[in-house]
Amino acid sequence: MFKAFLIKYGEIGIKGKNRHLFEDALVRQIKYALKPVEGEFQISKEQGRIYIEALSDFDYDEVLESLQHVFGIVGICPVVLTEDEGFDKLAEDVVSYLDKRYPDKRLTFKVNTRRARKSYPMPSMEVNAALGERILEAFADMKVDVHNPDILVNVEIRGKINIYSEIIPGPGGMPVGTNGKGMLLLSGGIDSPVAGYMIAKRGVKIDAVYFHAPPYTSERAKQKVVDLARIVAKYTGPIYLKVVNFTDIQMYIYEKCPHDELTIIMRRYMMRIAEHFANETESLGLITGESIGQVASQTMQSLAATDEVCTMPVYRPLIGFDKQEIIELSKKIGTFETSILPYEDCCTIFVAKHPVTKPSLKVIRRSETHLGEQIDEMVKTAIETAETIIVK
Ligand code: ATP
Ligand code: MG
Repeated sequence: MFKAFLIKYGEIGIKGKNRHLFEDALVRQIKYALKPVEGEFQISKEQGRIYIEALSDFDYDEVLESLQHVFGIVGICPVVLTEDEGFDKLAEDVVSYLDKRYPDKRLTFKVNTRRARKSYPMPSMEVNAALGERILEAFADMKVDVHNPDILVNVEIRGKINIYSEIIPGPGGMPVGTNGKGMLLLSGGIDSPVAGYMIAKRGVKIDAVYFHAPPYTSERAKQKVVDLARIVAKYTGPIYLKVVNFTDIQMYIYEKCPHDELTIIMRRYMMRIAEHFANETESLGLITGESIGQVASQTMQSLAATDEVCTMPVYRPLIGFDKQEIIELSKKIGTFETSILPYEDCCTIFVAKHPVTKPSLKVIRRSETHLGEQIDEMVKTAIETAETIIVK
């Protein structure tokens, strides 16, 4: 029965010039989300409102599902848009809307009229009362409840008249593209896709980098990361994924450094390489899925050691989350089932039985000197040979 949706979005912090940027980004992301949906849609901006109108048949659930992936959307209202052809016509439209939308009429309601167009000949209160009367006349089972109605019948008098009674929650946040870009270190695990989701939710566009170690890690492990990126891309738009061959670096560190420091030193090289790509593509920060104390490489000391090699900020949105909370989020956003597929990760191949949990920076720095200039060559090669996959 619906041919249009009214999109509600947050307004805090989007005054003045920012408002246009916010709205334009939101329209762009809506278009992106609707691209794979069958049907033709027209998206328009109008006085602090965004409307999506279908110009052809479409699948209602599919449209809703797609819109629920668009950050910046606070509410999705299936709306009936009608021309203003006098009060009687309006009353007819409202009654017919309720009739179709609510087959079971044993409901309480309240009419809430707003006149964005003040030239409308009746004041809002009068419209409320008059529409209420018409509804009661039409449906014997419906009753008025002004305090706690089952349905709030919104009637907004604008260019066209908007009739709606449902606000389906959107994901909130800010449209991707309104807050710069970040480089996500994306592994095949549970945490990093969730970290990417959380930062993107604040309007940040996401690029990603994945380190693999062929032949120790398989093509399927890589495919899993691409699949995870694809799920995250449903929310963020296309992701440029760099796939870095990390085998030589990892083997070389294994050969030259104490084994209990391997993970930390490896992570420092991951960060260095990720930062290189971030600079190249004008990302403003690195993003990881770390949380304090989750594993040996995520103690406060280990995080400090990893951080030391970065000059750009490292965003760790899961820093205070328990594993269970992260799992719940990953189920909610749809990455969990893919994350738990059992393919090997490059970090787990050479891990020590007893990795240091309180690495001293001094010790780590000294161990790294054993790597000499050769490691710089290897880093250079890893950067030069990285593959770029555009994931959408
Ligand atoms: P995840 O579930 O995200 O894999 P984890 O609990 O396995 O996290 P670690 O392996 O210590 O934790 O990795 C911590 C973070 O480092 C990850 O969240 C991710 O951001 C990054 N990371 C780890 N391994 C890789 C990799 N192979 N490629 C890219 N980033 C990685
Ligand atoms: Mg991992």
